[in-house]
Amino acid sequence: MEEIRDRLKLVKEKINRAVESSRRSAGEIELVVVTKTVAVARIREAIEAGVRNIGENRVQEALAKHEELSSRPPGAGLPRWHMIGHLQRNKVERALSIFDLIHSVDSLSLAEEIDKRAEALGKRVDILVEVNVSGEESKFGLERSKVNEFLVTISKLKNLRIQGLMTMTPFTNDPEQSRPYFRKLRCLSEEIQSGRLNNIEMRYLSMGMSQDFEVAIEEGANMVRIGSAIFGSRS
Ligand SMILES: *Cc1c(COP(=O)(O)O)cnc(C)c1O
Repeated sequence: MEEIRDRLKLVKEKINRAVESSRRSAGEIELVVVTKTVAVARIREAIEAGVRNIGENRVQEALAKHEELSSRPPGAGLPRWHMIGHLQRNKVERALSIFDLIHSVDSLSLAEEIDKRAEALGKRVDILVEVNVSGEESKFGLERSKVNEFLVTISKLKNLRIQGLMTMTPFTNDPEQSRPYFRKLRCLSEEIQSGRLNNIEMRYLSMGMSQDFEVAIEEGANMVRIGSAIFGSRS
């Protein structure tokens, strides 16, 4: 029980230090706690320890957990659910039934499907555009050079609310390796913001994971996605 609470506290302290060294304020940073593969009992502990943002990467797994977690005793606040993994079009409808923010929009067909399903539900859906800033082949995400045109196109989809950018950097043990990619994404986000497109607000910059969230914050992240630093390594 103590373990999750303690690790969470440690992560928050590190966030605060990164925030101070980059002269920002702690309130700016949203911590998304990544619970993929983590058992519901441990997620519940995290929620009881104050976690307000949950990140999952598989729709099926998330639906099952969401169902279990919504049968909690009343009183504890409801967390927001973040879809951080690759989303298939045939899972969009189910995804929209639980997720509050989709971080991983990287194709027009996916954006159009979300728009269509959102319309049927009579709601607007908050999304981030996932960008592949490293150019690494195995990663999802839109190429940097395609982002501007993509945004212009999807900004016309009335049931989407474009709220920012997300990236995943290549795995490394040295967080400094990620710094140039984080910087690139921040610059891109600033460029887009200054373009003042309709229906596009660069409110969130979702970057940084357990390995490198401090560097991400130094480079402008205001949403970090952290799993193993809180729950231990995934088997
Ligand atoms: C798993 C995952 C994370 C969290 O990774 P950790 O290294 O456990 O912090 C963050 N973002 C995405 C997209 C993930 O799939």
